[in-house]
Amino acid sequence: MKFGGTSMEDAAAIDRVAAIVKTRLPERPFVVVSAMARVTDQLLAMAAAAGRGEREQTLDLCRHLRERHYLTAGELLGTGLHTELHGDLGAEFDALDELLRGIAAVGELTPRTSDYVVSFGERLSSMIATAAFLARGIPATLVDARQVIVTDSQHGRAVPQVEAINDRLQSRVKPLLEQRRVPIMGGFIGATREGIPTTIGRGGSDFSAALAGAGLDAERIEIWTDVDGMKTTDPRLCPEARRIKLISFEEAAELAYFGAKVLHPATVLPAVEKNIPVLVLNSRNPSNAGTRILSRTPRSHSLFKAIAAKNRITIVEIVAARMLMAHGFLAKVFEVFARHRCAVDVVSTSEVSISLTVDSNEAIPQIAADLEKLAFVKYAGRKAIVCLVGENLRDTPGVAAQVFDAIGDINVRMISQGASEINLTFVIDETDVPEAVRRLHAKFFAEVDPEVFD
Ligand code: ADP
Ligand code: ASP
Ligand code: MG
Repeated sequence: MKFGGTSMEDAAAIDRVAAIVKTRLPERPFVVVSAMARVTDQLLAMAAAAGRGEREQTLDLCRHLRERHYLTAGELLGTGLHTELHGDLGAEFDALDELLRGIAAVGELTPRTSDYVVSFGERLSSMIATAAFLARGIPATLVDARQVIVTDSQHGRAVPQVEAINDRLQSRVKPLLEQRRVPIMGGFIGATREGIPTTIGRGGSDFSAALAGAGLDAERIEIWTDVDGMKTTDPRLCPEARRIKLISFEEAAELAYFGAKVLHPATVLPAVEKNIPVLVLNSRNPSNAGTRILSRTPRSHSLFKAIAAKNRITIVEIVAARMLMAHGFLAKVFEVFARHRCAVDVVSTSEVSISLTVDSNEAIPQIAADLEKLAFVKYAGRKAIVCLVGENLRDTPGVAAQVFDAIGDINVRMISQGASEINLTFVIDETDVPEAVRRLHAKFFAEVDPEVFD
C-alpha cells in the first residue's frame, strides 16, 4: 500500500491512512509513504538556496518545515505520546539544519548532497506515520529505505538494483510480515551499496511500492492518492474526466510516461513482470473502487482509454539536406543525446530534417552545440506532448482524421503514432494544451463504455 504526499499532507490525512491500513491488516500489508505534500519541492528549494549561499533564508524555510512536522505529530499523538517522537524528529531537523549550513558555507550543491537533503522528506513522514499507526493499534515497524532500496549512484535518478533489493526485502522485511508486523518505509529514497542516500526520480514512491510489491510477491499493489483512480484525463485540466475502471499495463504505462502524473511510469514494470494487479485508489474516498491495472482487460467499445499531456517539452530540429539519408547519420545524432543522458520521446523525419522532442532541461544548449557539428540545429521550448492511448487504436481505421478534426485550428508541430500502436501522440504549444485536451475529451469521452468507465 503506497500513500502519496496528498494522502500524508496533515494529521487528518494521516489519520485516514491509518484507518485504511487497519482494514487491510488480515492481508498483511507493507506500507510505503511519500513525504508530506509539497515537502520534496520545499527541500529542493532549500537545498538550492543553500547552494547559492543564502544561509538565513534556507534556515528560515527549514524552521517552517520543522514546525509543520511537529504540529502534525502533535495532533496525531497528543502530548503524552508525542514527547519521544518529538525528540527523534528534533534530532533529524538538527541534522538537516547542519547539513544546510554546510552547503551554504561551501556555496555549492552537488547532486549527491541534494539527494541527502530531499531524503529527509520521506524519512520524517515515515517516522510520523509509524508513531501514528502504533498509537492507533497497528503493529507498525519503521523500515529504513536506505537499507532496502539499493540503487546505483546516479543521484536524482538512481536506478534500483532489483536483485539486491529483493535480497534485502527477504532478509529485512519478510520476517516482519511473518511476525505480523506492519512494515512502513519511506518511498522515493534509497542508497548505494556503500550507503550513500539516493533518490529514484520525482514521483518515485510509486516505483518504490512496485519494487517492494514485486519483490515480496504481493497479491496486489495499491497506490493511494487524492483522486478516484486513473481518469480519462487530468481532472485539473478537465473536470468532466471520468474514472477508468479497468486499464491494461501497457495503456497505463503509456499514459504515465506521457504525463498522467497519477502514476510513476516505472511503477507498472515490476508489476507487469510478475503479473501483479495495480490499483489506484482515493484515500479521501476509500470505498470507491478506483482503477484496476491488469495485464489483460476486456475489449471495450470506446476508442480511447485516456488523454495525457506533458508540458515542458523542447522540440529539436536537425536539418541536414544531404546527410540525412547517409547511413549512420541518425546513429550519430542519437549518440549525442545518449552522451548527455537525455531521453528522446517523439521522433519524426523527412527527406532533409529530423525533429525530435526531449524534456526541457539545462543540457539542451550543450546538446545543440554538439549537434551543430553534424548539421544545422534549431530548438524551441514551451511545447507539450499530447497523447491519446487505447488498445482499440490498433485496429480502428480513420482515427487520426477524427483526432485532428477535433482539435481544429490548434497548431500541431509534430505527429507520431507509437510503434506499439496504442498511442497517438502530437506536439503543440504549451498554452494550447487545456483547449486541446478539452476538445478531445468532449469528442471522445462524451459517451463511453460503462463496463470500462464510470
Ligand atoms: P500523490 O501525492 O498521491 O503521488 P500525485 O499528485 O503524484 O499524487 O498524483 C495525483 C494527481 O495526478 C491527481 O491529483 C491529478 O490531478 C493528477 N492527474 C494527472 N493526470 C491524471 C489522470 N489521467 N488521472 C488521474 N489523475 C491525474
Ligand atoms: N516525495 C517525492 C516527490 O515529491 C516522491 C513521491 O511523492 O512519489 O517526488
Ligand atoms: Mg505521485
